[in-house]
Amino acid sequence: MSWSTPLAERVINLKPSPTLAVDAKAKALKAQGADIVNLSAGEPDFDTPGHIKDAAIKAIRQGFTKYTPVAGIVELRQAIIDKLKRDYHIEYKTDEVVVSTGGKQGLYNCFQAILDPGHEVIIPVPYWVSYPAMVELAGGRPVFLPSEAKNDFDIDMDRLCSLVNNRTRALIINSPSNPTGAVYSSSTLRAIGQMAVEKGIYVITDDIYDEIRFDGKGPENPVSLFEEAREHVIIANGVSKTYAMTGWRIGYLAGPQPVIKAATKIQSQSTSNPNSVAQKAAHAALSGPQECVTDMVKAFRERRDFMVERLNSIPGIRCNVPQGAFYVFPDVSSFLGKSADGFEIKGSLELADYLLEKAKVACVPGIAFGDDRFIRFSYATSKEQIDEGLNRIEAALGNLS
Ligand code: PMP
Ligand code: GLU
Repeated sequence: MSWSTPLAERVINLKPSPTLAVDAKAKALKAQGADIVNLSAGEPDFDTPGHIKDAAIKAIRQGFTKYTPVAGIVELRQAIIDKLKRDYHIEYKTDEVVVSTGGKQGLYNCFQAILDPGHEVIIPVPYWVSYPAMVELAGGRPVFLPSEAKNDFDIDMDRLCSLVNNRTRALIINSPSNPTGAVYSSSTLRAIGQMAVEKGIYVITDDIYDEIRFDGKGPENPVSLFEEAREHVIIANGVSKTYAMTGWRIGYLAGPQPVIKAATKIQSQSTSNPNSVAQKAAHAALSGPQECVTDMVKAFRERRDFMVERLNSIPGIRCNVPQGAFYVFPDVSSFLGKSADGFEIKGSLELADYLLEKAKVACVPGIAFGDDRFIRFSYATSKEQIDEGLNRIEAALGNLS
């Protein structure tokens, strides 16, 4: 009898992360010797600061290489509690925090913990690529809330409220945003907190870029602006972006104790504790000197200024000035429908392919984030690479007609 290698339906319908896929393709082409400028990567180009690495080396030497509590070591959870108190002026208890294998696993566990089949999660568009997939993997249904560049991708509260119904379980927000770099105003965040209480839904705040801000303000969250929302807000964060620690895989959730307990239970039956050595490194990151963060944010800001000005000097491109993260999300819709060298630019996917093939620049098409009019460039790379990439992009776009 022939064997058809059956797979679960949920995985057949699942697409791999497009951001990771583009980045992997760019890295593979580079490894083969191609002269690629990689503006696709969602990871800081900086090395992990020395004192963080030292903490990990010390942990290995001391034999800190065994299982830890599933939710993470208490000293790391305390460092997370201290950070949240510092930034959001709200005090969490140890059992209201769970450490996971990256912010991604924290979010995944969160959706698994709060969604039953048929539950809806409102996702503002443009969104980070993994939210809809994670919601669907938990049996939920993503409901999209469009936003516009001309309003700096702000949330339209009336439109948001009109999407809430008795199937709505949660809203997820990401400020500063991947891919737009937009930061929600304090009044928007407060209104979101109030809405969550009024409507009786959760707000998941993906704060992974909270320290990478250029507007002179510190991290903000609905709980810091409307404390009554505390039982409704689930904070997802991690050390990947702030401390250039993408490979260490440490993230966390903080929120109502029943949700954290449920997420921990899921973790206990899937991955157990996150890596013990990386937990020690994350502890050093959160409790150690923060100058490294200030320095990296300063460098990102300089690159942002350079990139936005240069992009807006290219005919046909319109780019907002992002206030955080390390991405720009310019409107490239004026190039759609054009062609050159046998390439027909039907949408952002074809434009990204064209730029990779013809300009040797890797970037992520806007459609991956739910909006085909845009394209994402990361500036988590050197100024020289950004300059070279933009020169190539300008030349390639100039050939389209
Ligand atoms: N949220 C957003 C918006 C991100 O861009 C990322 C980056 N991958 C994550 C969560 C997860 O980061 P990590 O798993 O590396 O902590
Ligand atoms: N968050 C990064 C990005 O958007 C890393 C890739 C991923 O985890 O999807 O590029």
